[in-house]
Amino acid sequence: NALSHSNDTIAAIATAPGRSGVGIVRVSGPKANAIAQAILGTLPKPRYAHFGDFNSRQGQLLDQGIALLFAAPNSFTGEDVLELQGHGGPVVLNRLMQEVMALGARIARPGEFSERAFLNDKMDLTQAEAIADLIDAASDCAAQNALNTLQGAFKTRVEALVEQLIQLRIYVEAAIDFPEEEIDFLTDGKVLGDLTSLINQTEQLLAQAQQGVIMRDGLHLVIAGRPNAGKSSLLNALAERDSAIVTDIAGTTRDILREQILVDGLPVHISDTAGLRDTEDQVEAMGVERARSEIDKAGRVFVLMDGSHLDFNQLAQGIEQELTSLGLAGRDKLSLIVNKADLLPSGCPQTAPPQCLGYPLYTVSAKTGQGLEAIKTHIKQCAGLQSAGEGQFTARARHIDAITRALDLLQAGETQIQDHQAGELLAEDLRQAADCLNEITGKFSSDDLLGRIFSSFCIGK
Ligand code: GDP
Ligand code: ZN
Repeated sequence: NALSHSNDTIAAIATAPGRSGVGIVRVSGPKANAIAQAILGTLPKPRYAHFGDFNSRQGQLLDQGIALLFAAPNSFTGEDVLELQGHGGPVVLNRLMQEVMALGARIARPGEFSERAFLNDKMDLTQAEAIADLIDAASDCAAQNALNTLQGAFKTRVEALVEQLIQLRIYVEAAIDFPEEEIDFLTDGKVLGDLTSLINQTEQLLAQAQQGVIMRDGLHLVIAGRPNAGKSSLLNALAERDSAIVTDIAGTTRDILREQILVDGLPVHISDTAGLRDTEDQVEAMGVERARSEIDKAGRVFVLMDGSHLDFNQLAQGIEQELTSLGLAGRDKLSLIVNKADLLPSGCPQTAPPQCLGYPLYTVSAKTGQGLEAIKTHIKQCAGLQSAGEGQFTARARHIDAITRALDLLQAGETQIQDHQAGELLAEDLRQAADCLNEITGKFSSDDLLGRIFSSFCIGK
């Protein structure tokens, strides 16, 4: 790769802008040693803290602090790296940067240190992305999952799958090379058995990656319910308790209202819809169409009902009617929320049974806040946040895309072998599926893809 033999030296302020106790200028590349020598007046021993003056070439004192030198390849980037830890003020750090650049370094692009680490095989793409995710993590769980990815939780799974794909392809190609035995090879059950197992594993990886995306990008939640059920009130109650910023991106009256709130650091994208009733009205029909596609995309749909209008003696019937009138009957990913618990007359169950029609059911009062904590816990459950930790990793849309393409190819290969014993077509599908999965780790990648990934990183990382 052309990028991997970069012989220029990059530098950036690695700490956040503004004032802080310590600020760090990081330098990576072939001139790191010479820059250290010039500024410190001596070449510090690698991996030892060196305390001393930072001087300009004219002998002007720029700052005083600690220098750390890492000799290639034992550094973050795999190159010679110098870290100058000075005082964390913008002016003093800029003076240091000016000197480092005068000594031959150039300002690093965002993510360029991580990009060099990737190109020098210090980490794969999922790990490089995990660094950005860790820095951006908005919750404890998101941080934990990013750390898991950084430790290789995602990469290991992908590499194991690719290895099995290669083994199976070798077996199939061997079968093709011995035509007189081909049919036996391909129909002896091993190929199909292995393929089925690969498809299952890929599906599992896809499901887990989808969870990882929710962790990173947030949960898409639709709140459906009749006017006055309390949709807006519930939204506000959920948002206020986290003092989150609520942004209204309201369209026309019949459009969908979208808001984003944070539930314990988890971004939750909420759309408020009136439901999916069939209608003669053309404008309303368009609204219904939008609501339908919103619901198809949702990670979860909350069906909000006004508890004061429900007959608790015939709860299942009442809810069934409600779902039918909202056009949601029989759908999956539904949760039932009975609102206005504060209005329920005494004698009525304050806490409804936890399940109804196979859906989880919660009772809440958006007004008093009763039951709100349970709803928040449920939202985190829907996002898979409760299962954070053990083996869970963060993932991105591009990973989902790659795994989905691999899965499609494997399923096509399964058809080839089941219907036509077409070994050559299967072998080609296996090869392409491995390429798709290799895009995730970066074993198979374009400069274009790398540029897109690393340019979204922060400066100095
Ligand atoms: P939406 O049309 O579904 O968004 O419903 P709103 O959130 O605008 O609420 C409709 C009405 O119900 C308002 O007057 C709210 O104050 C009231 N409301 C909402 N939630 C509750 C609740 O938990 N208890 C009571 N008593 N009133 C509520
Ligand atoms: Zn509303």
